[in-house]
Amino acid sequence: MNAVRIHAAGAIDGLRYENCEEPQLERPTDVIVKLVATAVNRLDLELRAGANGRFSFPHILGCDGAGRIEAVGAEVGHLKPGDPVCVYPFVHCGSCQFCAVKEYDRCADRRILSQCEYGTYAEYITVPAKSCFPIPFGFSFEEAAAFPLVYTTAWRLMMTQGKLIPGEIVLIRGVGGGIATAACQIAASAGARIIVSSAKDEKLARAKALGFELAINDDAVDLAKEVRGLTAKHGVDLAVDCIGGADWGKSLACLARGGRLVTCGAIAGANPPTDLRRIFWNHLKICGATYPTRDEFRQVLKFFDYSGVKPIIDTVYALREAAQAHRRMEQRRHFGKIVLRTDG
Ligand SMILES: [Zn+2]
Repeated sequence: MNAVRIHAAGAIDGLRYENCEEPQLERPTDVIVKLVATAVNRLDLELRAGANGRFSFPHILGCDGAGRIEAVGAEVGHLKPGDPVCVYPFVHCGSCQFCAVKEYDRCADRRILSQCEYGTYAEYITVPAKSCFPIPFGFSFEEAAAFPLVYTTAWRLMMTQGKLIPGEIVLIRGVGGGIATAACQIAASAGARIIVSSAKDEKLARAKALGFELAINDDAVDLAKEVRGLTAKHGVDLAVDCIGGADWGKSLACLARGGRLVTCGAIAGANPPTDLRRIFWNHLKICGATYPTRDEFRQVLKFFDYSGVKPIIDTVYALREAAQAHRRMEQRRHFGKIVLRTDG
C-alpha cells in the first residue's frame, strides 16, 4: 500500500510518500479499514519533530480517518466489508481499573492513535472494531475524517469540562485553529453568545464571514477591556484558550466572576505567568481536557446528525502532498481542517 512515513524525527522534508506492507488483522476483534481520507493535526507536527511519540521508525503518522471496512476479524459481528466508517482516534489498554468502568480518559496507557501504533496517513489501517463508528448523516469521507480529534476534544472541553449552558458568553481564542473552530460551531449550536479572538486580521475576517461577528484582534488591543465593553462589564462565562504562553493571563482577565477557563493546548508556551489572586478572588475554575471517551465521540456523532453542522474544511490535499499540508499548518495559514485524500 501507499503511505506517508517518517524514518527519523525531523523537519517536513522527512515525510516520505512510499510503498510499504499492508497491515494485517492482529486480533479477532480487529478490522482493517480502507481509508479514503485522513486529516492533519498539530499532534502530527509534534510527533514528526520528535515530541510525544512512543514508536520505532519507520512510522506512519495521522490519527483521524474515514473510509470503508475492508476485512473483519472472526469475532466482529456488527461490521462487514464495504461499511463506511469513521475512526475513534484514541487507544486505551482496556483492562485497567479505569477502563473496566469505562473511565478511559484516566487509563494509564491511554494514547492517541499514531503516538504508539501506526496512524492513518495510509491506504489501510488495522483498528479495534469498537473504534469504528458510522459516518454522520450526509457527511463526505473528507468531512468524516475532519472531525474526530478536534471536535471530540472541543466537545469534552466545552460540554463535559466547561459545562456550557445556553445563553452564556464564550470567548474562543486562536480562531482558525482546529479546536477553536470546532468550539465556535459547538458553542453556537448550544445557544451561547460567542466572542472570537486572533492575532491575525484575515482569520478574524473569515470568522466574521461565518457569522461570528464579535471578533477581536487580541494582539492590537487590550482584550479584557474590549471584552468588558462587549459584555456590559460582565466578562465571559467560559474561555477556550489552547494557546497558553504569555497571553494566557489575558484569557483569565476576560472571565466573569465564577467563570471557567478550559484548555487543551500550549502552542505559545506551557509555563504562563498567572496571577493566582485573580483566580481565588473571582472564584475561577480552570479545566483541562484530552482523551475524549467513546461516549463523547458518540455524543459528537449525534450532534452532527441532528444539528446540521459540518466541520469547516480549509484545504484538501492528496496524501502524497502531506508535506505541503504540514507546511500550511506550521505557517498557521489554515482556517479549519486540512484534509488528505488517500487516493492521490
Ligand atoms: Zn486502561
